[in-house]
Parts: sequence; structure tokens; C-alpha cells
Amino acid sequence: GFNCGIVGLPNVGKSTLFNALTQAGIDAENFPFCTIEPNSGIVAMPDPRLQKLAEIVKPQKVIPTTMEFVDIAGLVAGASKGEGLGNQFLANIRQTDAIAHVVRCFADENVVHVANKVDPAADIDVINTELALADLDTVEKGIKRISRIAKGGDKFAKQQIEVMEKLLPHLNEAKPVRALNLSAEEMLVIRELCLLTVKPTMYIANVAEDGFENNPHLDVVRAIAEKEGAVVVPICNKLESEIAELEDEEKAEFLADLGMEEPGLDRVIRAGYKLLGLQTYFTAGVKEVRAWTVKIGATAPQAAGVIHSDFERGFIRAEVVGYDDFTSFNGEQGAKEAGKWRLEGKDYIVQDGDVIHFRFNV
Ligand code: GDP
Repeated sequence: GFNCGIVGLPNVGKSTLFNALTQAGIDAENFPFCTIEPNSGIVAMPDPRLQKLAEIVKPQKVIPTTMEFVDIAGLVAGASKGEGLGNQFLANIRQTDAIAHVVRCFADENVVHVANKVDPAADIDVINTELALADLDTVEKGIKRISRIAKGGDKFAKQQIEVMEKLLPHLNEAKPVRALNLSAEEMLVIRELCLLTVKPTMYIANVAEDGFENNPHLDVVRAIAEKEGAVVVPICNKLESEIAELEDEEKAEFLADLGMEEPGLDRVIRAGYKLLGLQTYFTAGVKEVRAWTVKIGATAPQAAGVIHSDFERGFIRAEVVGYDDFTSFNGEQGAKEAGKWRLEGKDYIVQDGDVIHFRFNV
């Protein structure tokens, strides 16, 4: 599966967010395929289409697809120099697919701010500087190590050096690599460096309940994100932790009172999914209706591989009905009669919402 690491300065509301995500998270017993660690929360991707499919197919079980959030607490200034537990935090971030950077945009006298004032630009800068310095270190070491190979005439090594030299001045200014808009080829060339500041990033602007509009702090975060190609999700973590504790029925009422259509957490989860370039396809049998996650652009055999590697290896064909056709024609039979059922081969690029049945050899 895919995961998203939650980072940010102390006292910005990371644990509050993480606890809300975990509360709202799935019941581990029903998901034997997920390993749940103490600092990780696995949440269901909110997707109303799953319920629609279940109403048509009436399966025994309905299983959503999931996304993992990892709490990476304790990143402070000096981490890249190995201060405190800094190195460990950086190593933890290295293992995530995307970064959710929580930024404090609420004022509250009762909550101490590490720098004594609410200043999202400065806060973001502290974290981003640490991450950029860590990358700078990686790139400097990389240049030393790979130069020797490049001198031997290795073409790929030469390319690597070229891209790394392009990164150096940028990282020296503590700017994230993702702001450089590297080409797909350049990204591939530096992939093995596992840089931190290339990871897709969303800023979670933690605002007060009434801080969604006319909030200069939020505007600051938006401006920073736009410059570096990141995404902003405004949310009130305190409110979310209250919502997450409610039973379903109470929750609906509470949200309606607030004029919200869904918990803000759902926006965070969706943003993470989008950030990673992910999409959903479905399998819809009478035993279970289930959502699966694949990268946008995945082929049918790659999608099959998400279910089981045998499905990918033994892939023959995919029987496909688009979600809209499946629901408009009341299921597979109806879609078939309407000529909307397709048999696709190994080059088929899976589309978001496809309802698929794989044929494979074992
Ligand atoms: P962390 O150190 O980043 O994990 O921060 P915590 O989640 O522990 O939050 C620090 C303090 O801020 C706690 O007392 C929270 O109750 C409080 N807090 C978190 N989010 C909000 C918020 O949206 N509004 C207000 N007023 N307080 C919050």
C-alpha cells in the first residue's frame, strides 16, 4: 500500500490529527492484509461509489481501499546535523511515499508555540530547511561517490552528476527539489538517492474553527505551496478529533449542524491519494465488492498484480465495465446486454472506476 508521513514542528496539532485519523481508521481485525504499527494509522478511502456497487451486487462483504498515515513526530531544527533524534526522523521520512506537513494557523494562548508566535512561513521554513540540508548532504556525498564511476566513462553516472550539480545551488538555498520541476528523465536518474524534498507534499493548515476564511495565516501557506508545487488542505484538527469520536448517527447530525458534508479528514485522505497519482478500480462479486488502489496509468496486468502477484504473472484478459455503465445498467448482466462489457488485453490502461474481473492462468 501507499503511505503518507505526517511531519511538522511540535505543538502544531500533529498528534491531534493523527489520533483523529486513527480513531476514524479501520478495525484491524477486518483487515488481515494490513499490518498496523503503533505510529501508523490505516484509513479507508472515502468513496461513495463502493456503496452504490454494493446496492447492485448485494455482496456478503464490502471492502474499501486504504491509505496509511505515519506519525513522524519530533522533527526540530538541527535534525539534518544529527541533533537529537534527528537522523532517525529523517530516515522515517525517507520511507514514506508522500509528506503531510502540518502547519499551525490557529492562535490559542493556552497552547504554547515553539517560537512564541503563530508564524506559518517561519515554521515551514524550519522544516523545509532541515529536509533540504539533509538532501544537500545526500547530493554532496552522491557527487563524490558517483564522480569516480563517471570518470570511468559510465553514461548513466555522467547523467547523474549533471542532475546533481543542477540541484546543488538550489539546495544550498534550502529550496525543495520538487520546486525545480525536473523532467521525468531527470527524476529517474536521481531516484536512487531517495531525496526527501522531491516527495509530493501537502500542507495541512491547522486552522481554528472559524479560520477557514479571511485567515491571513492560511493565505501565507497557500502562497508558499503555490510557489513549490505543493497542495494545501485547510482543516481544524481539534474539531476533527471531536468528530472522529462520534458514532455514525451522531456524526451525521454534528456535521449537518456545522454545515459540513463530510469530515475534513476525508479531504486529507483524498488529497494524499491524489498527491500520489493514485486511482481506484473495483472488483464486484457476490462474495465481496472491493476497491483497489493502482497508480494512474497502470496496465491491466499491473492492476491484477495488486490483488495477487499470480494474477499479474498469469494474466490472460480483463473483463471490464466502466463504473457509470455498471451502475446505469444495473450490474454486469445489464451492461453486457447494453454492449458495455469489454474484454481487454495486457496493454489496456486501467481507468478510474473500472469494474474488473480478471482471467488468469495459475
Ligand atoms: P503536536 O506536538 O504537533 O503533535 O501537537 P498536538 O496535536 O499535541 O497539539 C498541541 C496542542 O494544541 C494540544 O493541546 C492540542 O489540543 C492543541 N490543538 C491542536 N489542534 C488545535 C486546533 O485546531 N485548535 C486549538 N485551539 N488547539 C489545537
